[in-house]
Amino acid sequence: MMNSRGDLFGIFCSMSDYGILDIVKDALTLNLEFASAEVQAKRLELCNACPHLGKLIRDCKVCGCLVDAKVQFTKADCPINKW
Ligand code: SF4
Repeated sequence: MMNSRGDLFGIFCSMSDYGILDIVKDALTLNLEFASAEVQAKRLELCNACPHLGKLIRDCKVCGCLVDAKVQFTKADCPINKW
């Protein structure tokens, strides 16, 4: 599955605006930003309470992202604007 831009992160994150190509690009240009521990914890708290969180592999059923990875990146966001 590709995301709306057609990049390969669609395998994991079909509706993400911040996909694997963005992450690789930011990593290569030393612009990869990680959210603080507090922000990550707050994001996970919201995901854990969300009815769209998959119980088996903790994937978001709206965007397809693996939320434990997704919450780490500053530029990532919730597809329904919960965070
Ligand atoms: S990213 Fe948003 S929609 Fe997906 S599980 Fe987390 S809170 Fe729910």
